[in-house]
Amino acid sequence: MRSQSFLEMRRRNALAIVSIVRGEREISRAELAREANLSPATVSNIVDELLEAGVLIETGSKSSTSQRGRRPIGLIFNPTFAFAAGMSLDSTRLKVVICDLDGNLIAESASDCNLHAGYDQLASSVMESLKEIAKKASIPVRKICALGLALPSGIERPSSAKPHPVSKATGAVQPVELWARLQKKLKRAIVLDSHVNMSAIAESSTGGERHSDVVMVVRLGHVVHSALVVHGQLLAGSSGLAGELGHLPSPGNRRNCECGNVGCINTIATPGALLKVCQERGARVKELDDVISEAERGNRACRDTLTEAASSVGFGIAAAINILAPQQIIISGPLVEAKEIFLVPLYSAIRQHALKTSYQNCIVSTSELRHLAEPLGAALKALSMEPRLLLFGTPSEMSPEEEEERYGLG
Ligand SMILES: [Zn+2]
Repeated sequence: MRSQSFLEMRRRNALAIVSIVRGEREISRAELAREANLSPATVSNIVDELLEAGVLIETGSKSSTSQRGRRPIGLIFNPTFAFAAGMSLDSTRLKVVICDLDGNLIAESASDCNLHAGYDQLASSVMESLKEIAKKASIPVRKICALGLALPSGIERPSSAKPHPVSKATGAVQPVELWARLQKKLKRAIVLDSHVNMSAIAESSTGGERHSDVVMVVRLGHVVHSALVVHGQLLAGSSGLAGELGHLPSPGNRRNCECGNVGCINTIATPGALLKVCQERGARVKELDDVISEAERGNRACRDTLTEAASSVGFGIAAAINILAPQQIIISGPLVEAKEIFLVPLYSAIRQHALKTSYQNCIVSTSELRHLAEPLGAALKALSMEPRLLLFGTPSEMSPEEEEERYGLG
């Protein structure tokens, strides 16, 4: 029987080999042995196992050699050996995508889901969605080896105190508890983070970001939240709650916020707040779409409320520009769908309050990924977990606490 240390060494070598192959367009076994500093026989054994498992593929067309005779067989990485799922959960919907190991989008779907239905029900909904999308993509569900889940609002890092949701939108959902239930039910590598952080990962990897040093993603969802990506790294801040743009007070706003302060952007610029203010001003509206369509039809109360909300978000973004001078700001979330009626006063407020030079050096745009940003970012975050998790389904030696910190809460 092979010893644990032998297996461990073999896995380490396999990971090194996979990593080298992934970095090359195509590579022969001989080149691989040189690159990995391993004996040709060791490389050959491991490559045979990886070929059998489907992690690598032989191309049979390695063409770089000029020698006569039989050309060496080329090896390439198989990105569809396994997949990662990304999900975005809000109070009523669960959006799902699957990506291959290179982060290419394979399939997307959405289903109804109740955020407040309890952990077991949530875990069942997640499992069902996983099966459904695997069926849609014609892949076995066991091939989905990792899951990223985007949740409403900020997710506090575990500390001595019990983590708690920072917004009423997450209600009684404790991220740590949800992660534990999902882990038990799905038996996969799982990572949780907030909607805005997952969006930022997607936007900075595949969306509008053009390799800028500092990118800010502002999400106008159930709360106004932002994420900062610096040199490709997401900044969580000391508590994991960096980017609470919605709790910045805006000028002239005297509404009470759930955080205990007065005048926060969230008190006017969230769909719930917009509805409430429009209703107070006499508009007959039941949801955000009504507010937008009524404003477009010329309803004064709806139009004024949207302008006020846009101006307050614009003020917040201008403050961020003045402090951080980012190269790019990407605005996403349901409110972006209000288009001109919201975006015109938003841009106007940014121009009014931002320092001219910083504003001129900052590209402000709306998300190109739109509704896909969160689930796609969640899948990409799942893919960024240790390669050994994706290939072997086992994390390296970590204590449960370290594991939870690393995989559970970003
Ligand atoms: Zn507040």
